[in-house]
Amino acid sequence: MSDFKINTKCLIGGYKPGNGEPRQIPIIQSTTFKYDTSEAMGKLFDLEATGYFYSRLQNPTCDFVAAKIAELEGGAAAMLTSSGQAANFFALFNICEAGSHIVASSSIYGGSYNLIDVTLAKMGVTATFVSPDATDEELDAAFQDNTKAVFGEIIANPALTVLDIEKFANAAHRHGVPLIVDNTFPTPINCRPLEWGADIVTHSTTKYMDGHAACLGGAIIDGGKFDWLAHADKFPGLCAPDESYHGITYAEKFGKEGAFITKATAQLMRDFGAVQSPQSAFILNLGLESLHVRMPRHVENAQAIAEFLEQQPQVEYVNYPGLPSNKYYALAQKYLGNGGCGVVSFNLKGGRKAAEEFMKCLQLAAIETHVADARTCCLNPATTTHRQMTDEQLAVAGIPAGLVRLSCGLEDKEDLLADLQQALAGIAG
Ligand SMILES: *Cc1c(COP(=O)(O)O)cnc(C)c1O
Repeated sequence: MSDFKINTKCLIGGYKPGNGEPRQIPIIQSTTFKYDTSEAMGKLFDLEATGYFYSRLQNPTCDFVAAKIAELEGGAAAMLTSSGQAANFFALFNICEAGSHIVASSSIYGGSYNLIDVTLAKMGVTATFVSPDATDEELDAAFQDNTKAVFGEIIANPALTVLDIEKFANAAHRHGVPLIVDNTFPTPINCRPLEWGADIVTHSTTKYMDGHAACLGGAIIDGGKFDWLAHADKFPGLCAPDESYHGITYAEKFGKEGAFITKATAQLMRDFGAVQSPQSAFILNLGLESLHVRMPRHVENAQAIAEFLEQQPQVEYVNYPGLPSNKYYALAQKYLGNGGCGVVSFNLKGGRKAAEEFMKCLQLAAIETHVADARTCCLNPATTTHRQMTDEQLAVAGIPAGLVRLSCGLEDKEDLLADLQQALAGIAG
């Protein structure tokens, strides 16, 4: 399968029907699976044999779709989760425990920031946040003896900073830990972080992968290259026997390619249960089948809108890594050769009030807590998604009060530009 181009993998990856089998992936809407003997089922419980017994752990429909996403990212193994939040939580908690420490980019999705800063802290996992622009020295200084992972977003939601993947991967590897990156915004069509040195990739499939605002979901993809056993003291969960699985040592039994996802499935999914439903996985797969067609159009619309907004007197600045004036333009050219994503953000000179008036005037773009939909939507993060953050934290994350996040959909570009023009004219004073 690896010989095919990514566009083809969007259609045929993951599921290979045999003679007379369904063309489209079947929805296996069953919680449980039948066995002839207890012995046969027992082998599954012991992870001695592969197979299905309960859909909280694994389900064939979800596995078909996870396998497609693994192929798209060029990973060794993957799993679906109920949401992007669950994916990031599992990816981190799979190698962290009370007493562990994470180095994270400060420029990340509000939900991920909260997860790391507040909720993981309650579980005894602490974090040091670093600027996505941190130098090697600043990165090195953030590590502690108990650091277990580095986390960042390729294109941050909503700040739209671009992560220097190689720099962050090198820093992580200097300190013997993996780089986990959230690749939600570029999708594997526009960036494949594993090719740049990242070790584990996460997704909110709720966004472009589904792409139609139809189902929540997440995914974790393991590149299968990180050598857990070479840092066995840091990763006892993978490199020491798991008493809840009859003393299995994941890194020994499943190797570099299988250990991470097997542990996350067998242990975290078993205990936390954040599964994606087979119905959702089926819908997600319909989105994946056109991902390679949709992404270029999202990018084309966003590029045109970013260029338009940059010329408007009401706009203080536009954030879009595809603009030559953007601080991250060079990094975007390097890592996001096909363009980044369909999300543009811009700060209105009139602040919070102007943002409110502007958004009220929009006719095509709907006000939504969503991005990456086929239909254009917008949001003022300071008053909605990021309202739990202080003004100081907002400033650090690059999200001032007048910032509007505009997720450019697949509508006709001319209609979108006309809508923005009339809404800008509607801002008072
Ligand atoms: C939306 C989002 C998440 C959270 O995903 P959900 O599916 O909403 O749980 C995580 N990371 C990024 C970059 C996101 O945009």
